[in-house]
Amino acid sequence: MRSSFRLGRIGGVVVGLNVSVLVIVVILVAGLSLGQFPQTFPGYPTVAYVLAGVGAAVLFMASLLAHELAHALVAQRNGIEVPRITLWLLGGVAELRNEPRTPGADLRIAVVGPVTSFVCAVVFGALALVTGAVPLVAGMFGYLAAVNVLLAVFNLIPAAPLDGGRVLRAALWSRWGDRVRAAVTAARAGRVFGYVLIALGFLQVVSGLGFQGLWLVLIGLFLVNAASAEEQQAQLGATLHGVLVGEVMSARPVTASPDETVAGLIDRLVMSRRLSTYPLVAADGRFLGLVTLNRLRQVRPEARETTRLADIACPPDQVPKAVPDEPLLGLLPRMNGAADGRAVVLGPSGQLLGLLTPSDISRAIQTAGLHHHDPYPHPRGADLAVPPQRLPEPEPKPGERAQRRTEV
Ligand SMILES: [Zn+2]
Repeated sequence: MRSSFRLGRIGGVVVGLNVSVLVIVVILVAGLSLGQFPQTFPGYPTVAYVLAGVGAAVLFMASLLAHELAHALVAQRNGIEVPRITLWLLGGVAELRNEPRTPGADLRIAVVGPVTSFVCAVVFGALALVTGAVPLVAGMFGYLAAVNVLLAVFNLIPAAPLDGGRVLRAALWSRWGDRVRAAVTAARAGRVFGYVLIALGFLQVVSGLGFQGLWLVLIGLFLVNAASAEEQQAQLGATLHGVLVGEVMSARPVTASPDETVAGLIDRLVMSRRLSTYPLVAADGRFLGLVTLNRLRQVRPEARETTRLADIACPPDQVPKAVPDEPLLGLLPRMNGAADGRAVVLGPSGQLLGLLTPSDISRAIQTAGLHHHDPYPHPRGADLAVPPQRLPEPEPKPGERAQRRTEV
């Protein structure tokens, strides 16, 4: 989820808003200050309803933020980096850099969110009692107590990626001792629940409750998508478990000098070698940047003779770096966030040892089952009945086979 506005930093976590959050704020303010509040608490001036509506929307966002912050702080306490929290149309997202290492940590990180929402509900409920003399204000706090209970209960439904799905994953993980199988089961539960919500939403639309139905369909679609992605991610984790960067990198890649021109590289290598990536190295072997075909293509033909590779390369500090004996699974999230989607493998003195491109990764997935050591010693169960080596081999793209031959 991309943050459109940055609100600040709490406990080392960047807190941001996606622009879509404005939609839900507008819906809340309009619905409460034009509909629900005037109907339930008549007799106040319009400005009072608008203030109560805005107050309810802002405090709702604050309680959602408290829920996400609770996830983030407990994750940090369990050794997981949390770079960002983003509030958006359908709620909040706390981004965790890694997965929890134990079922206990998984459970604690998941359950603290709904617990926080219950605590918010109690606080708002108490405020509603205290402000009982002013029915509109008490009504606003009562509304906030109710939505926080709803938030906690809905998120405890055992369907990933909801918190309840994480609780289910932790429980199955602890019972089966198999994290992947537990994650796949929780994700499948998430997908089924998503389809149920979509069906319920359609029923509501058909029976005349148009808007609420559409909202359920939207949430259902999001859950189906997110759960499918989680299932794929879990199976990818099982496939690549134990595979090291050094086993899948393209060793001794073809390199270029930073002072070579774009035209020079095209004449010397690009047309004959069909590689997609050229690392730049200094005379002493130090890594100085990465040139890809995309970057070469962006240079106008008349400028090719005068443009140096160093001018168009991705600078070294923006390229993810790895060492050969590091697990591949740890590198993948860093590659996903990188500009060119590629990583370099460096030796102890910073010299270039190898290159990791998306085609290296897909080849690693295809061949993971062929490694002589079984990367995953536990019985996999019916959930993982398709071993990776039996997946159909995709047609190589033109030039890909040549690329594999020359890169390795
Ligand atoms: Zn949560």
